[in-house]
Amino acid sequence: MDERSLISDFFDRRLATGRPVRADVILGIGDDAAVLRPDPGFDLVVATDSIVEGTHFPAGVPAASVGHRVLAVNLSDIAAMAAEPLWFFLALSLPRPDEAWVREFARGLFELADRFAVELVGGDTVRGPLGATVTIQGRARPGRAVLRTGAAPGDGVWVTGNPGEAVAGRLLPDATAGGAAAALRRRFLYPEPRVREGRALAGVASAMLDVSDGLDDDLRKLLAASGVGAELDAGALPLSPELLSVRGEGAVECALTGGDDYELCFTVRPVDEPRLRELAATWTVPVTRIGTVIPGSACSWRLHGGPFTVPGTTFRHF
Ligand code: ADP
Ligand code: MG
Repeated sequence: MDERSLISDFFDRRLATGRPVRADVILGIGDDAAVLRPDPGFDLVVATDSIVEGTHFPAGVPAASVGHRVLAVNLSDIAAMAAEPLWFFLALSLPRPDEAWVREFARGLFELADRFAVELVGGDTVRGPLGATVTIQGRARPGRAVLRTGAAPGDGVWVTGNPGEAVAGRLLPDATAGGAAAALRRRFLYPEPRVREGRALAGVASAMLDVSDGLDDDLRKLLAASGVGAELDAGALPLSPELLSVRGEGAVECALTGGDDYELCFTVRPVDEPRLRELAATWTVPVTRIGTVIPGSACSWRLHGGPFTVPGTTFRHF
């Protein structure tokens, strides 16, 4: 299988279906560059993230998971800006042109793309170590993107979903079938980007980011960017029954240091809290208050009435 037929068979879906996914794509895959027509009156919001075999996923995970994951981590970044995702580019590096692998990769990728109506408009395909990079474009109303810098003393600290599940799933064997273990494994292989929730938080969250490196580490980034501290309650963490059944006492540590969650962590001013509760009542994903922003730069956790020191096991590339 050569590069051209790989692209036309698996990635150029206008060829396959004869119809565009999005009307704002004037020219997608097939030319030297894509031509996109953003609506006037919006800010463009752009992010890129790579995943590489051996670093972000172990060898042998299902190809559909790699396709899902490389788009999911990028959708999560757009969600964390409270923006709407529109288009994306895919740079794919393959050790060999394995048709069955690419078919499954594309299935995982497009199942997620279709759910959020984002269109693949170009990319690059090269031979090399197994990995993929997505560059994604989205939009936000001017001034409405939610940054890491807006948290102020008195704001509540909130998190979506059940952090810790993904890392627990990462450490389980692939063949895990049924029950809590399979659910956790799925949370690692197919993270769910909180796109709808992130967009809804425009004008509600004062600061936001997505949790990729671990809740404690990422939350500290938000606090540092905002120049504030926080008092946090590890006892309030939304530990799922599945996580507790597999990790027991270690569940809190998983939730704080695990990473790969792709949940949203955000702050909300007291005056906006009723609006958040209204929104959250319409969501399927839980949203939990875990603490309060304070002046200064100290960030401390408490558990069972005493101080809790987070073990320093956060992933670092370098
Ligand atoms: P060029 O040499 O001009 O870079 P390529 O042969 O690399 O052209 O790509 C041809 C077309 O296919 C371009 O529109 C490019 O964006 C697209 N493309 C290449 N690889 C991918 C991919 N993995 N996914 C989506 N589009 C791709
Ligand atoms: Mg090229």
